[in-house]
Amino acid sequence: MRIAVLDETKAGEPRVAVTPDTIGKLKALGAEIAIEKGAGAGADIPDAAFEAAGASIGTAAATLKGAHILLSVRRPSADVAGKLAKGALVIGMLDPYSDAEGMKALAEKGVTAFSMELMPRITRAQVMDVLSSQANLAGYRAVIDASSIFGRAFPMMMTAAGTVPAAKAFIMGAGVAGLQAIATARRLGAVVTATDVRPAAKEQVASLGAKFIAVEDEEFKAAETAAGYAKPMSAEYQAKQAALVAEHIAKQDIVITTALIPGRPAPRLVSAAMVAAMKPGSVIIDLAVERGGNVEGAEAGEIVTTANGVKIVGYTNVPGRLAPTASSLYARNLLAFLETLVDKKEKKLAVNFEDELVKATCLSRDGALVHPIYAPKA
Ligand code: NAD
Repeated sequence: MRIAVLDETKAGEPRVAVTPDTIGKLKALGAEIAIEKGAGAGADIPDAAFEAAGASIGTAAATLKGAHILLSVRRPSADVAGKLAKGALVIGMLDPYSDAEGMKALAEKGVTAFSMELMPRITRAQVMDVLSSQANLAGYRAVIDASSIFGRAFPMMMTAAGTVPAAKAFIMGAGVAGLQAIATARRLGAVVTATDVRPAAKEQVASLGAKFIAVEDEEFKAAETAAGYAKPMSAEYQAKQAALVAEHIAKQDIVITTALIPGRPAPRLVSAAMVAAMKPGSVIIDLAVERGGNVEGAEAGEIVTTANGVKIVGYTNVPGRLAPTASSLYARNLLAFLETLVDKKEKKLAVNFEDELVKATCLSRDGALVHPIYAPKA
């Protein structure tokens, strides 16, 4: 069982899919690991550390040669998939809802591709939950980024020269990223409020010491899907939510938005008029910017300063801004999934296509897209 890991830093992705820590455990499963030179550079892992853990280092071509499994952070190109044997496994964050044509081209190369984002959120698969491991770090980093861009202090300070008030932070979307943002902003001393459309979020927000603010009508009471995600809200609800947010946001120093709905564009929560009502120097971090953005005027990869002096931050790949930590957790998520795909006695691959984790994540097999998300809409 030969595992390949490519250098994704060339494509702007600093994270890496294995770490010296997981290499030992992959070897114990019976794997040999080949890594492209420089693959760990963005995550502060030198080639020598991979070699010391028992991996071999080489060119991309040498790494892919004879590989049975490609572990990746991002979706590899169809070209890369074409260099793998038919039936080889590709496991990574394949961004399944975007670029279906590109995904089809990859499928046609004959690889069996697994998208880690589709891992079911059940107890058994918690250790494989890449959305959680990465979103948690993004929520933390968003607050750190906000604090470094904000020109004032977060905590209340009582000094001989006078008292400095605590910053007010508003977290929109209280899922994994939002809850970590709340906890981090509280630790820095901000006064924190948060909103969400799922009723379950209310208690979680309160348990972190933040105040929950939301339109709690009948629709709110039914806004959570069986899988624990938010539903798209009606136009009426969105109007009520906007009125509430408009009033609240004008008094905030920091706004961090994290709202997502799986497989859809991010909901627009903050309008240009709301931003225009904020104080100069306020900072908005839009963690949903890559999925269309929660904030009007946010630009992917940019910090936009509005006419009234509000900074709208659209950093992309925020987990990648903590690449060593993000890689170590991600690599462990992959290892845990791989352990379910291997016959530990025989030390060889034994994918059970009836397993619910496999069914939920397998995008392509035998040259075709097989996941229900690609089925033609009825
Ligand atoms: P997500 O990334 O899909 O969305 C982020 C948050 O945005 C969610 O809380 C969502 O409700 C919220 N949101 C969506 N539309 C909104 C709107 N219009 N206004 C305000 N907020 C809006 O969500 P996530 O972080 O992946 O978490 C989803 C749920 O899954 C949470 O309940 C989380 O606790 C749960 N979860 C369960 C497990 C598990 O059981 N293994 C693991 C991780 C997360």
